[in-house]
Amino acid sequence: MKISVSDNVTFSKNSACIWILGEKADDAEMSLSGENILVDGVRAQLKNEGVRDVVSVGKHTLFCFILPEKGKELSCEDLRKTIGPKSRMFAARGIVNISLYVSAAVAPNLSAESIAQAAVEGTVLGQFRHDDYRTESKEKGYRNLTSLTFIAPDKSLHAGFRKGAERGVVISKAVCQARLWTGKPLNDLYPEKFAKEIREWLKGSGVTCKVLTKAQCEKLGMGAYLSVALGSDYPPNFVIAEYNGAANKNEKPIVLIGKGIMFDTGGYSIKLAAKMYRMKDDMAGAASVFSVVKALAELKVKRNVIAISAVCDNGISGKAYRPGDIVTSMKGLTIEILSTDAEGRLTLCDAIEYSKRYKPACIIDVATLTGGVVVSLGKVAFGIFGNDEKMLDMAKAACERTGEKGWHLPIFPEYHEDIRGEIADIANVSHGTDKAHAPSAAAFLEKFVDDIPWVHLDIAGTCWYERDLPYSPNGASGSSVRMLIDFVENYGK
Ligand SMILES: [Zn+2]
Repeated sequence: MKISVSDNVTFSKNSACIWILGEKADDAEMSLSGENILVDGVRAQLKNEGVRDVVSVGKHTLFCFILPEKGKELSCEDLRKTIGPKSRMFAARGIVNISLYVSAAVAPNLSAESIAQAAVEGTVLGQFRHDDYRTESKEKGYRNLTSLTFIAPDKSLHAGFRKGAERGVVISKAVCQARLWTGKPLNDLYPEKFAKEIREWLKGSGVTCKVLTKAQCEKLGMGAYLSVALGSDYPPNFVIAEYNGAANKNEKPIVLIGKGIMFDTGGYSIKLAAKMYRMKDDMAGAASVFSVVKALAELKVKRNVIAISAVCDNGISGKAYRPGDIVTSMKGLTIEILSTDAEGRLTLCDAIEYSKRYKPACIIDVATLTGGVVVSLGKVAFGIFGNDEKMLDMAKAACERTGEKGWHLPIFPEYHEDIRGEIADIANVSHGTDKAHAPSAAAFLEKFVDDIPWVHLDIAGTCWYERDLPYSPNGASGSSVRMLIDFVENYGK
């Protein structure tokens, strides 16, 4: 996609404009669209109380004029939400060139840079569609954007727009990659192929990638992780990506761990049939961390970052692990398997243990971990858990800045008691009547992090939407990608 900044609109075929105006819908600003003939009609419409959004067809192009609510200053999130649906409408009409103007009057406190970044995110993410498997998309006329032009008469702002737009492109690309991976089914994206695609994705970015085989993981004693993979014919692949951006190569890294269950049948604790097909999204955490690490490299963030996922498939066969089995984790703790559907934490705990060789400054894990978090927070927010107030605050601030919603949930000592094993050190789910699935899963992970500052994001609710949100169309959402990029960029600040 070509991004440019200009002081006026140049018309071309298949183009459209989005004009976000201040309360007064200033004539001069409307005329910047180059279609004076429209201005009177549009202004008349916008004068009507309650009309804030006018779509008009000009000589060459389609125009959207948008007025925010009276007295309301737009935030970056408002911009993404305003632009996303328009961008999707344009894509459905085959429009590939968009010009965009945001009046200084609607966002007086936002820099040109942040306006441009949010606008690119809204545009690109709003029109995302997973088209890899369609053969008829051309016939349907859906076309992704090829150029986006910011209109800014004030030339002193051009550099800011350019810089913000470039950031927006890098970040949006990462979100789209996470969405693409998450949407792929197991028969096209099994552990080995996922590892290969991660390598390809990272190629040339300065991020190095290595993959541990099953035999290597066995040698390391990853008994918890490997037990999950037993039931599948697809061998597990433990993927590690390293980015050294800090001036001091020995600076302790931020470790990002993603849950990478390529498909989750539930194992012998089998899931209900109706929605099982969706369990291809159980690797959304892994999709997120490997998308993020490349974006961090492209943004030249001055941090060392390691992204890790213990990737495997939770299948069923005569070899599969069974409820009641006791496995030994890499840390040495023995785990009683009470449910083979609580497999994510078994892979994460060995990934956490492995990451300790890097002496992490902190660990964030991202996982579609529990249905419980969906009961608590719905599909509105992901759960945030952790053992370190400062880090929790940084995570919450990153959510705030990016418009990704997360909510801090507790790990009370009682949740630890709930996962005591009957005959092993711990159980992989709480037994008895306890229903706090999300906190007890977090308590399980906490057992493995020792005193390393750690945050756990449970994205089971937010990784997939079954309807179009303003800039997250029906399907995989890329949840946590933007928030994690922001977190690392602002870490320790
Ligand atoms: Zn499961």
